[in-house]
Amino acid sequence: MIQNDDIKAAAVELADIVGGMRNGVAFTGAGLSTESGIPDFRSPGGLWTRNRPIDFDAFLRSHEMRSEAWRRRFEMEAAFGGARPTRGHRALARLLQEGRLAGIVTQNIDGLHQASGVPDDRLVELHGNSTYATCLGCDTRFELDWVRERFQAAGGTAPDCPHCDGPIKTATISFGQPMPGLAMARARELTRACDVFLAIGSSLVVYPAAGFPVAAKRGGATLVIINREATELDDIADLVIHAEIGDVFDALAEQLGPLP
Ligand code: NAD
Repeated sequence: MIQNDDIKAAAVELADIVGGMRNGVAFTGAGLSTESGIPDFRSPGGLWTRNRPIDFDAFLRSHEMRSEAWRRRFEMEAAFGGARPTRGHRALARLLQEGRLAGIVTQNIDGLHQASGVPDDRLVELHGNSTYATCLGCDTRFELDWVRERFQAAGGTAPDCPHCDGPIKTATISFGQPMPGLAMARARELTRACDVFLAIGSSLVVYPAAGFPVAAKRGGATLVIINREATELDDIADLVIHAEIGDVFDALAEQLGPLP
C-alpha cells in the first residue's frame, strides 16, 4: 500500500493508474457530496451525530415514526434542494465520458451523479434515492411536492398511499431494509469485471456496500481509496489519498489534461 497525502505527488500516482484504466468502477459515498452543502453521516456535525437513523422496522411499525422521517426529510430540503454536483461528481462524469470508467456505484441518495450527466444505465444506487418517494405496498411513485402538500395539510402527519393505503417512503434503503436485488447484482457484475476500483468519500463501514472494495481487490483490481480520513480498508488498498476530494480531482485533471 502506498499512502500519499501530498496532493501533487498523489495525483501523479493516481494519473498513472487512471491513465491505464479501461474498465474502472467509482464507488462513492457521502463525502463526495459534502462540498455541495449536504452533510455526510459520520464527520463531526454529520447527520449521524444529530439524528439517529430511523430503521425500517420502526418506520413500518409506527405512523409517528413515518411522520418523523418525513419531517426530517423536509428539514433537509434546504441542503438537498439547492445542491449542485461537486468537482468530484464532474470529474467522475468526465472519466465515464472518456471511457475509462465502466460505471459508478453509489451509496448516496442525493441524485447528484444524475445531475452531473451520468446516465441511469451507468449508475447503480445501492441505497436508493431520496429525491422522490414510493409506496411500500404497491410501488407507485410519488413526487416530494405531492407528499409535502399532504404532510402539511395534515399538520405534519405522513400521508398513506391513495391506491392501497400502504406507507409512503422516500425511495431509499433504510437500515434493516432488504437491499435492492437488481442494484446489488449490477454492482457485483461491475466489481467483478473492473480493472481499477476507486472508493471515494466513504468511511467504508456500512455493509454490504463496503464489501465491494474488498471483492474488487480480491478479484485482482487495483484499489484506490480517496477520503479525508483513514478508512477501515486503507490497509488493503494499492493507493490511499487522505485529502479533499475536489482538490484531488483538480490535481488529477492537471496531470491528465483536457478532454481529447
Ligand atoms: P460516511 O459519512 O460514513 O463517510 C463519509 C466519509 O467522507 C468520511 O470518512 C469523511 O471523512 C469523508 N469526507 C467528507 N467530506 C469529504 C471531502 N470533501 N473530501 C474527502 N473526504 C470527505 O458516509 P458513507 O460511507 O457514504 O455512509 C453513509 C450512509 O449514509 C450511506 O449509506 C449513504 O447512503 C447515506 N448518506 C448519504 C448522503 C448523500 O446522499 N449525500 C449524505 C449522508 C448520508
